[in-house]
Amino acid sequence: MSYSIPVTVAYGDGIGPEIMEATLRILEAAKAPLAYETIQIGEKVYQSGHSAGIRPEAWESLRRTKVFLKAPITTPQGGGFKSLNVTTRKMLGLYANVRPCISYAPFVATKHPTMDVVIIRENEEDLYAGIEHQQTPEVVQCLKLISRPGCEKIVRYAFNYARQYGRSKVTCFTKDNIMKQTDGLFHQVFDEIAKEYPEIEAEHWIVDIGAAKLADTPEAFDVIVMPNLYGDILSDVAAQIAGSVGLAGSSNIGEEVAMFEAIHGSAPRRAGQNLANPSGLLLGAIMMLVHLGEGEVASKVHNAWLKTLEDGIHTYDIYKESVSTERVGTKEFADAVIARMGQLPTQLKAVHYASVKAEPIKDKLSVRKPVTTETVGVDIFLYHEDRDAALLGEGLKQYTAGPLSLSMITNRGVKVWPDGFAETFCTDHWRCRFKAGDVNNVPYEEILQLQAKLTEAGYRIIKTENLCTFDGKPAFSAGQGA
Ligand code: NAD
Repeated sequence: MSYSIPVTVAYGDGIGPEIMEATLRILEAAKAPLAYETIQIGEKVYQSGHSAGIRPEAWESLRRTKVFLKAPITTPQGGGFKSLNVTTRKMLGLYANVRPCISYAPFVATKHPTMDVVIIRENEEDLYAGIEHQQTPEVVQCLKLISRPGCEKIVRYAFNYARQYGRSKVTCFTKDNIMKQTDGLFHQVFDEIAKEYPEIEAEHWIVDIGAAKLADTPEAFDVIVMPNLYGDILSDVAAQIAGSVGLAGSSNIGEEVAMFEAIHGSAPRRAGQNLANPSGLLLGAIMMLVHLGEGEVASKVHNAWLKTLEDGIHTYDIYKESVSTERVGTKEFADAVIARMGQLPTQLKAVHYASVKAEPIKDKLSVRKPVTTETVGVDIFLYHEDRDAALLGEGLKQYTAGPLSLSMITNRGVKVWPDGFAETFCTDHWRCRFKAGDVNNVPYEEILQLQAKLTEAGYRIIKTENLCTFDGKPAFSAGQGA
């Protein structure tokens, strides 16, 4: 080959160096046209004082090559160390986490022999924004942020993925029956974008029953797209029920940069013993080749790997006397894959990747339309120790500013004034809703005036949220029981 594509690689910690070496040997045997730049990440870098486990020079390599093949690292416990994965995803805008979860029955034991599900997890938003505050002695808060461009990027990625990989259905999991604004937006964007892909079936499940169905009957699903937290949890469940954690690879895709890895960690107890299964990282590397438009080499490596599994050449984690023919170490497994380069599996389904590059997503973001937004009230959150809601309501209702007057108080989202139930337990964290009656568009000065009056009267305000309408539609939740 006359060309080579630069790729940044990191050998990681624990079993990382062994499985990386095995993977790169297999790629070399397949004549993958890659040129590697090696960076150091992980334990040693953490211990040399870089709290994110990566040095400034390493970012330069990643931003130059835009492709990262990463072996697992050991994250030191405690002591202010930050997760390298979370940092890398956010800094480089790796918005899509893709995890194919596939069974290899009868060669790898599983209760779901025909499982073939791809989980596509939103990677940048949701509760992982990491915005948390203790607001009162009794109550802490984590902010769940979902954006329209964030939803559009991940949902479009999922449908493009389905199209590119010949998959026929995309399912969306959310909890929009409860989180009508945040998960509601994700679901709404899913419905909008699905219409642009009429050849792909689109369906939505509430995440709890969807998760139960996935664990019980994974064959019912094809591609599943979901917000960050559900995707984090359910992609582990899906990988585990498909067979072994040692067998799953994943990609983290951004507009510019992409990172490829195994889903498992550095398994320090297995390190340095030529025991570990290199398959997860190898499958990550295959996803990388497809991403780079090297579908032919990717197919060659993947099929040689499937043939190796099928021939019963197994590392300790999947070895079973009834189906395996040989128990091998990391190096010997790589040798066996190399020996089968160019062969196709005969029982497992052979793969054939088309050399299609992923479409840029940014250009497809919907154009911002002008919206009319009006402020119709304010939620003022108070730290107030007395648990008597009726007393608080009677006290607060004396305070008004312009058209704003008290309409409701909730405690942890449950309406406790007016007409609260004595049975409802109240903490020291109260949301006091002041609404403007018939007046639309309350000037912010009046909200500030109200806050000044309450502060003067001795109430402790911990935060406020404006109550807005967008194009006339209220865009805030009601109190439960309101
Ligand atoms: P782990 O995935 O490293 O290992 C759990 C167990 O799974 C191992 O003891 C081993 O029995 C088995 N296993 C994992 N990979 C295997 C392989 N390739 N072949 C054979 N068996 C394999 O999880 P852990 O023990 O919880 O974590 C160890 C370290 O890895 C921690 O420091 C953790 O923070 C880190 N970690 C890193 C990543 C990453 O870099 N992406 C991901 C997860 C965990």
